[in-house]
Amino acid sequence: LYNQVQDLKGNIRVYCRVRPVKGQSNELSSVDHIDDGSITIITPSKYGKEGRKSFTFNKAFGPSASQAEVFADTQPLIRSVLDGYNVCIFAYGQTGSGKTHTMTGPDVITEKTMGVNYRALSDLFMISDQRKDTISYDISVQMIEIYNEQVRDLLVADGVNKRYPFYYMLVSSTIIIIINISFTDIVLVSLTLQTLEIRNSSQNGLNVPDANLVPVKSTSGVISLMNLGQKNRAVGSTAMNDRSSRSHSCLTVHVQGKNLSSGTLLRGCMHLVDLAGSERVDKTEAVGERLKEAQHINKSLSALGDVISSLAQKNSHVPYRNSKLTQLLQDSLGGQAKTLMFVHIAPEHDAIGETISTLKFAERVSSV
Ligand code: ADP
Ligand code: MG
Repeated sequence: LYNQVQDLKGNIRVYCRVRPVKGQSNELSSVDHIDDGSITIITPSKYGKEGRKSFTFNKAFGPSASQAEVFADTQPLIRSVLDGYNVCIFAYGQTGSGKTHTMTGPDVITEKTMGVNYRALSDLFMISDQRKDTISYDISVQMIEIYNEQVRDLLVADGVNKRYPFYYMLVSSTIIIIINISFTDIVLVSLTLQTLEIRNSSQNGLNVPDANLVPVKSTSGVISLMNLGQKNRAVGSTAMNDRSSRSHSCLTVHVQGKNLSSGTLLRGCMHLVDLAGSERVDKTEAVGERLKEAQHINKSLSALGDVISSLAQKNSHVPYRNSKLTQLLQDSLGGQAKTLMFVHIAPEHDAIGETISTLKFAERVSSV
């Protein structure tokens, strides 16, 4: 039934989420109003004719929408993974618009504030338990980051030295030379060194076969893994000035189900992607590393937009090869796969330029 309902709606969905205004609650918002499927913004005259402009989505969530409400509309899509579908869920928007809030949650995560990632996994565990007399499920996860078009494993810890003896030697010799190096630097060095390859149509369905694949059985196991992933991402950010907003992170959930009476196997996979901030960087100001990052982000987000919009328009050629992100997700975008894009809006007036370009991106990838 989940799939029948979902199929009626098509395979690409776009949801819009507007976060609360920061600071004083009486500050005016650039969002005029939100209803179930559309948002209307107030556009100042420098972006054309002053006035109001509406955008339509499959669903729109206002500032008071809870994490549970947002998840409720995502749940059927997530559950289809257990029936062998491939699913991609993206969080798109400028830095500070609420992508991580939707996918993971705020800094302090409670049962009430946890985001889509945690809720998705605990829901999969719950359903697989309900079905355990007919289907036996194995669930495992990978977590990677794409930074400057390079893929890194986020599920590495102290095990790095065993998996990558050569790098470990390199890191160790660095420690000998730089005696004062701290533990966080060691993790950082190892993160910097491992760049992984993407291989499409590999036999076991793993597109990044060299990234750790960790079997998970309970929500608490998932929470500690995700904490490790977040920590590895954060390590990069303190040293390199908030790298997390300039990289894409992807939690991939692999599901294999075996029908206990027929022995039939099914396989599904779900990518939960917290994208790099979509804000445009002023080319006259950005230099060096910052400019390089901006160009990589720009390239991969437009490649993603191109892929989804050509799928939405049912074009025969889909340009997957233009970025690491779209290569990684190739077999989970298009065909029978289901895609959900959360576009995030920061409602402050000074964000209006980015808000307009975010909504235009959303319009382009939408098949509504
Ligand atoms: P991004 O990942 O897009 O950079 P964050 O998710 O970190 O943005 O959100 C920026 C800030 O706004 C965080 O402090 C976050 O907790 C808060 N925030 C975002 N969305 C919401 C929301 N829907 N409700 C309440 N607070 C939110
Ligand atoms: Mg974030």
